[in-house]
Amino acid sequence: MSRTRVAIVGAGPAGLLLGALLAKAGVDAVIVEQRSAEYVLGRIRAGVLEQVTVALLEQAGVAARLHAEGLVHHGVELSFGGARHRIDFEKLTGKHVTVYGQTEVTRDLMHAREAAGLETVYEAEQVTPHDFDGTQPSVSYVKDGATHTIECDFIAGCDGFHGVCRQSVPAAALQVFERVYPFGWLGVLSETPPVSPELIYSNHERGFALCSMRSTTRSRYYVQCPLDDKVEAWSDAMFWDELRRRLDRAAAETIVTGPSIEKSIAPLRSFVAEPMRFGRLFLAGDAAHIVPPTGAKGLNLAAGDVGLLAQAFAEHYCDRSDAGIDAYSARSLRRVWRAERFSWWFTSLMHKFPETGAFGQKMQVAELDYLVHSVAASTALAENYVGLPLQ
Ligand SMILES: Cc1cc2nc3c(=O)[nH]c(=O)nc-3n(C[C@H](O)[C@H](O)[C@H](O)COP(=O)(O)OP(=O)(O)OC[C@H]3O[C@@H](n4cnc5c(N)ncnc54)[C@H](O)[C@@H]3O)c2cc1C
Repeated sequence: MSRTRVAIVGAGPAGLLLGALLAKAGVDAVIVEQRSAEYVLGRIRAGVLEQVTVALLEQAGVAARLHAEGLVHHGVELSFGGARHRIDFEKLTGKHVTVYGQTEVTRDLMHAREAAGLETVYEAEQVTPHDFDGTQPSVSYVKDGATHTIECDFIAGCDGFHGVCRQSVPAAALQVFERVYPFGWLGVLSETPPVSPELIYSNHERGFALCSMRSTTRSRYYVQCPLDDKVEAWSDAMFWDELRRRLDRAAAETIVTGPSIEKSIAPLRSFVAEPMRFGRLFLAGDAAHIVPPTGAKGLNLAAGDVGLLAQAFAEHYCDRSDAGIDAYSARSLRRVWRAERFSWWFTSLMHKFPETGAFGQKMQVAELDYLVHSVAASTALAENYVGLPLQ
């Protein structure tokens, strides 16, 4: 039996960042994670950080390497009809995004936590939140065969989409909104220089493709694929051929290919569970919502949630005010729904949908043509892509 103020379930970016922000505010917290630290670091996921996320990492004191190694991007390119068109974020919004892998964000947060001697329990089994509808919640887990209980004031459910916290809430208290898309993304990570200094989002009659990166020497590429495709059936050569077909000629001719160092298929889903608070249990990040990765919003939403949550807990302990705690769910959900809308819209615009056929493809190209030639439409895309303010 031990005691802390905030028991955090999950050591993904949401849980680790919340822990770091709480430590800065002088609020004790313990993180309980079901996997090993190496497993958590091995997951290749997001790579585009909004300025709001970077500011939160600065506040947490873990942004030094990000500023040294992260790539500042002032725009993206949209490819369709065989040509590329740039959306200039800096000109349209005065803002930019930073390319820095989720793995690196996680590594920086883990190192800082370890250096500060803050407690994280890895490889915890049977993690269970208890009594969060009362005044004395706790989290139990089994480690090395022994059962442990952490008594706490609050539980933060930062345990991702498949985590235990949302599932512990009575079904009648939750409202769930969901859309599963009829395709997935086949992603390849390779130790090759990116084909272009900025991301290329490609709408093609064969399906969507994305040229992204993690650094100047490491590229991340994706092609839209059927949901039932098996990753083993895609050789590296097949992947590069398919990617080239979906790019404009200049990109297809100059892309540098190489062996994949990671290859996986991810399904695409829009999902929101409301509310994000149940008594003394607060959901944050993928535990409460999922977006298709097209808009690069998943990690940024998780960071925004814990930014608000850390502020709310700090106000509770330092200012004896529960205003932030009481407003948390509504404030987060407003931002979440805006990002859900953008991610759904951008996904709908860029992908090939089996049911819409040739007419749907013509509509997409007409909208893209309007978008890249209208300052108003380009600004709307840029504003959402760089991220809306954390209000
Ligand atoms: C395959 C894939 C690719 C993605 N690509 C992109 C992308 O390109 N761009 C983008 O913006 N977003 C992307 N995302 C989304 C982004 O990675 C997530 O939004 C982000 O990881 C959310 O962070 P989180 O901390 O909320 O959840 P997670 O990163 O899922 O972390 C949750 C943590 O909780 C732990 N956990 C789960 N259950 C329990 C339990 N019962 N007890 C204790 N611990 C538990 C998990 O092991 C995990 O470490 C991708 C997601 C996936 C799955």
